Amino acid sequence: MPRTWAGRATVRPEPRSGSRPGGGGRKLVCWGDADPEPPVAPKPFASSADLEDTEEVLEVLDDGVYALTAGGDPTVGAIEGEDFLVCFEARATPYMAGLWLDTLRAHTDKPVRYLILSHYHAVRTLGATAFDAADVVAHDNTRDLIAERGMEDWASEAGRMPRLFRGAETIPGLTWPTLTFSDRMTIHLGGTRGTLELAYLGRGHTKGDIVAWLPDRRILFAGDLVESEAALYTGDAYHLDWMTTTLDRVAALGAETLVGGRGRVVREGEVDHAIAQTRRFLVVLKDAVAAVQRRAGTIKEAFDAARDALAPAFGGWPIFEHTLPFDVQRMWDELAGAEPRVWTAERDRALWEELQG
Ligand SMILES: [Zn+2]
Repeated sequence: MPRTWAGRATVRPEPRSGSRPGGGGRKLVCWGDADPEPPVAPKPFASSADLEDTEEVLEVLDDGVYALTAGGDPTVGAIEGEDFLVCFEARATPYMAGLWLDTLRAHTDKPVRYLILSHYHAVRTLGATAFDAADVVAHDNTRDLIAERGMEDWASEAGRMPRLFRGAETIPGLTWPTLTFSDRMTIHLGGTRGTLELAYLGRGHTKGDIVAWLPDRRILFAGDLVESEAALYTGDAYHLDWMTTTLDRVAALGAETLVGGRGRVVREGEVDHAIAQTRRFLVVLKDAVAAVQRRAGTIKEAFDAARDALAPAFGGWPIFEHTLPFDVQRMWDELAGAEPRVWTAERDRALWEELQG
């Protein structure tokens, strides 16, 4: 069956003024401005100064299989069943999710039966109510993480990435999965559409990442376990599992089309390359931080070493500077045997000052 890879459309959000929904009291004046204010101070906190709209691209990957990519911003997807839809990832707010659904509705008006959350991060979960899904599906550990640190993560991510939180006042509260699983779950799509396999492949970006796999069409929605030319966020990661067994299992699926958590969709030979690049980022980060830790250096020295080691290959990727302090801290902690810390808006700023300030 020929693949409709050429089915791409560029979707540009309408320019908006600062008075539109969003910001929860913040005045977001830069969107749509022709000449936003240049960054001030040494380095603006995280992605707090990245307020311009990104270019969104809707790709029809196969009959009834969609991905909306947005450069370094989170990708979302959808898979048609015979008489229902499965949506993959929720975006940060119902308002932002509604914009994605508006785009999707040009292709299908089927109701959303399942909303799949690849992991617990606020930018992928808090828009859930827009889908009106019969069930919200996630890994057991994702539900636990939402209960344990969902509120703190919400505040942390809203501070780091305000652009993704447009329409923040439309968030009714935390998103609670209604169906969870530990290993695998199969959704029968009906008719001749085959199955959608949800699978836990081990600890990685968090301890609860799942992927969505269409075995008949060899299309994989990998969530944040694989990024395509977008820097990895590893602040909650288990790097050592991720860079070994978990990515091995991702590769073993043999995907011909891979939709990562951020960045463009990759196909055929590019799939192995994207997985290898993701692994390489993790290995280089680990080697740099471990070397400083072995000689009893400081975390600031580890940060500088990691940046020096990663920048030649990865420094030009979206959100590289944003994620690096959090990545280094988590690698530092993991190598010391600690579990992921709870990030709070205050702790984010303190670390930023220590390492990037
Ligand atoms: Zn994430």
